[in-house]
Amino acid sequence: MKDHSSNEAPSSDSMLGFHWTFATVAHLHLHAISPTNQLSFWQKIEYSPYIFATVDETVRMMEKKK
Ligand SMILES: [Zn+2]
Repeated sequence: MKDHSSNEAPSSDSMLGFHWTFATVAHLHLHAISPTNQLSFWQKIEYSPYIFATVDETVRMMEKKK
């Protein structure tokens, strides 16, 4: 019998980050998305790197603004 356990989604299949806009970083809200491979077409746009930043990216962005 074949072992299918290797087909299970990896734990990296989730995303934690902030939504922000180019105009103002004052509006930030946190999102936890999982699993990321089940996002709809519009959700993929909503969580694209243009308007969505991971926690690390957001921290780096805030530090640059100082
Ligand atoms: Zn949002």
